[in-house]
Amino acid sequence: MAALKATAWLHPPGIRWVRRLPAREKVLYLTFDDGPIPELTPWVLDTLRDLGVQATFFCIGRHIAQHPEIYTRIRAEGHGVGNHTETHVNGWHTSCSEYVRDTLQCQARTGNRLFRPPYGRITLPQAWALRQHFELVFWDVLTGDFDSRLSPEHVLQDTIRRARSGSILVFHDNLLSEERMRYAFPRTVKHFLKQGYRFPPLPGSTTGMPASRQAPMPPSSSHS
Ligand SMILES: [Zn+2]
Repeated sequence: MAALKATAWLHPPGIRWVRRLPAREKVLYLTFDDGPIPELTPWVLDTLRDLGVQATFFCIGRHIAQHPEIYTRIRAEGHGVGNHTETHVNGWHTSCSEYVRDTLQCQARTGNRLFRPPYGRITLPQAWALRQHFELVFWDVLTGDFDSRLSPEHVLQDTIRRARSGSILVFHDNLLSEERMRYAFPRTVKHFLKQGYRFPPLPGSTTGMPASRQAPMPPSSSHS
């Protein structure tokens, strides 16, 4: 599988940022942020299985700690994972040292090089401090499933309109997104499957540590 770094650009120099992967074939990358949670992630996994497609889950570390069985299932079913920090910290409101500490705490659970900053917010010093550990994975299609002002149908149509080959799509296994995600995610996949698209996990996302091999982590005290 091709490495992300082969298609990322340097912005700024020394830090790898990815927003979309160039693709000659029909391929789309589904990503789910903020899980795993029992209310939604098993449903997402069931739906992915029924549709016969793969996704990448950018997990919050403390959710992995709370629901290791769901995390194990994600990995056992061949989906990818990535780091979404231990406590979903906002980089713009967090010191560099605290941001790095929180991110590396989650890294002890996920174990590969893919990292997505919560809210897409990270400062240059934070990104610079993490550059040796990670490739920063953003997106080119933010579905808007988190936006309660949008109708589920609007989210679906807008996602279909903007996705193109190589796109990285962001949904959320987060209760704030539930109504719109449950509606738009399977319909988006069905739409593009009919057009011959494939949905693989992100390159590099299926490596790293399965839950069963993880050392126990101390409970987190902060919330965001
Ligand atoms: Zn998030």
